[in-house]
Amino acid sequence: MPFLMTEKRPLPLSNNLVLSLDFGGTKLAAGLVDLEHGKLLAARRIPTPPDAARCLAAMLELAQGLLAGEHGQAVGAGVSFGGLVEKDGRTVVRSHHVSGWDGFPLAARLETELHLPARVANDADTAALGEYHFGAGQIVRNLLYLTVSTGIGAGIIQDGALCQGENGQAGEIGHMLLLPDGPLCPCGRRGCLEALASGRSIARQMRQKLAENGSLEVIENITAQSVAEAAAAGNPLACSVWDAAMRWLGIGIANAANLLNPGRVVVGGGLSRAGALLFEPVQRVVAQIVLDPTLQITPAALDDDSPLLGAAMLVKAAL
Ligand SMILES: [Zn+2]
Repeated sequence: MPFLMTEKRPLPLSNNLVLSLDFGGTKLAAGLVDLEHGKLLAARRIPTPPDAARCLAAMLELAQGLLAGEHGQAVGAGVSFGGLVEKDGRTVVRSHHVSGWDGFPLAARLETELHLPARVANDADTAALGEYHFGAGQIVRNLLYLTVSTGIGAGIIQDGALCQGENGQAGEIGHMLLLPDGPLCPCGRRGCLEALASGRSIARQMRQKLAENGSLEVIENITAQSVAEAAAAGNPLACSVWDAAMRWLGIGIANAANLLNPGRVVVGGGLSRAGALLFEPVQRVVAQIVLDPTLQITPAALDDDSPLLGAAMLVKAAL
């Protein structure tokens, strides 16, 4: 019978090493984090397998490989998960990306397999924790972190603590309703921020515009990145799609900022790599709406490492 870890291990004061796992939509990542210095000591990444069972098996292999290395004994496992997670940090509600995760007791299973206490949180929450403790959010106590990529999500830090809401679903900024009867959102509602300004919606709107204009361009190959590049080059259709999306993103951020009064809004995710093309119009729109003129909007500093670094902080908070 496998050894079942149900109690938290005491933290040896000399050891700040934590195993971090990131179940993302396109990749699985595992790393060892030195909490004292906020450093990722080792990391391994592989493409995300297509179902939950294979994801878990592949992740366990990555984790066991890292734990068998030379870095020392980890005191716990922090997990970033791309989907909804119960507020107690133990059970997955459902994945945003991969089938088979509904109601899965991920923390208990990892504790059984890895003999470490485990704690799980949504990936926008772990990225927010990462940026707050080690990245672009270090100078404030109240932070709103946005990830803008295929979808749009957010993590909220209030007075230095993660704000998860009554049932762990705080931060669903992507489903802030901005345009009643607007475009259909993956959540089934219409006119959500995600349906107006995510990478998926930008590509969809560009395809629609090209089709309406009888364009001969290869519509299937349109991505948010290609729209950004065409907008930067002055293509009028791309500019109109991009500018409209950035206006909605600015409105969504400003509404959230008026509610939460963060010192900083940190924006990460694939679309944030558009740089000034995203930040300049968004800052302009936000400035027209936001009540606190000291609000700053800045790019994420940690890039792909923020979920791993933030997940490590889940372990620190639980010990
Ligand atoms: Zn929605």
